[in-house]
Amino acid sequence: MKYKITGGTILQMGANAALCPVQADLYVADGKIAHVGTLADDTDYETVDAKGLLVIPGLANMHTHAYMSFMRGCADDVSFDEWLFRRVMPIEDAMTGEDAYWSALLGCMEMISTGTTRITDMHMFKGDVPRAMRDAGIRANIGRGLVGDDLTTDGASRFREAMEEMAEYKSDLLDFILAPHAIYTCSERLLRQVNDKAHELSLGKEIHLAESRKEYEDCIKAHGKSPVEYLTELGFLDERTLLAHCVQLDGEDYRLLSESGAHVVLNPVSNAKLGNGAPNYLKMNQHGLRICIGTDGAASNNSQNLFHEMNYFSLLQKAQCRDPKIATAQETLRMATMNAGKVFGKKTGLIEEGYLADLTFLDMNALALTPANDIASALVYSANGSEVDSVMVGGNFVYRKKEFTAIDRERVLYETARIAKKYL
Ligand SMILES: [Zn+2]
Repeated sequence: MKYKITGGTILQMGANAALCPVQADLYVADGKIAHVGTLADDTDYETVDAKGLLVIPGLANMHTHAYMSFMRGCADDVSFDEWLFRRVMPIEDAMTGEDAYWSALLGCMEMISTGTTRITDMHMFKGDVPRAMRDAGIRANIGRGLVGDDLTTDGASRFREAMEEMAEYKSDLLDFILAPHAIYTCSERLLRQVNDKAHELSLGKEIHLAESRKEYEDCIKAHGKSPVEYLTELGFLDERTLLAHCVQLDGEDYRLLSESGAHVVLNPVSNAKLGNGAPNYLKMNQHGLRICIGTDGAASNNSQNLFHEMNYFSLLQKAQCRDPKIATAQETLRMATMNAGKVFGKKTGLIEEGYLADLTFLDMNALALTPANDIASALVYSANGSEVDSVMVGGNFVYRKKEFTAIDRERVLYETARIAKKYL
């Protein structure tokens, strides 16, 4: 489909990446942004009336586990170890692939309806999770979680699953990455093997890193190095690596991360809720780290709504640093759009000619956004996600006038309620 989106306000980035709302027509063709402005001949384009709507780059949730969505509220107010090893993992062990499919669809529904167009998802259900992403129409980087000592022995079946689902589901919207779970569930040998495979197959990598104080201290005990130093020495960190959390950083870690070119995805709500602390954004910024944002799974957040995450992140940093000038609305919005676009080399996160047509349309007459004296402020400090009217991914509407175009909402709600009853 070709669309001429007319009558709305288009949020572009000006010089120095400053936000720049313009009144202009926006043309979409072949899944990409064809033009912003006026086209001499627009006879082929279907008109979309965007009067009263603000069109922004779709938000990117760069770290989550959508299959966990039905676990919302299953393990609140408990320690990290209790949460992971005694609450979440037993449910994961009992879950079926079909359970994961419906739960991942529920997560996609929540994300799409709150303006997210792109996600990075680490999962453990071969084929079922990519199938949910495909059916939802969301753009995703998908990684089957890898654990173990060696890719040729105890890690072999998971790696094979990762390769098989990539062969079956890779598409314009679905990309695949290698996702070793963490340094405490993967051996040094396995991490080296994953790194070699990533280079051999030209794939990106994602890993949870420096999330809890225990992980940090155990790494010092086992290797005499911090988690960042440990991965640096393995040669694991590069521009195609995404590191989730990075709350527990010290000493040289910031410089090493900066020099490596790796991207950091912050999950402030999950970190706070599990008592793991907060990232030192000030130091990250001083060292020029590449920072984006994510929600983590619904079992630790308990929301998949990036408006909520952006708001919390910015306010938390201001409170923590006792400085209202830190983590500005514009910086925070860029983390969820432009910065994320630089991860795994996707042309997303900006509304410019040639970029992928991943767009979120917000109702500017929503009470919380009125009057929008400052767009970034409205999006980060006032919006709650309910203002999202429509969402386009790769030039197709997946959510239009608050209705899903491809997902059977009632069926997903029925199935996930049924699944939750089995386990919770
Ligand atoms: Zn996670």
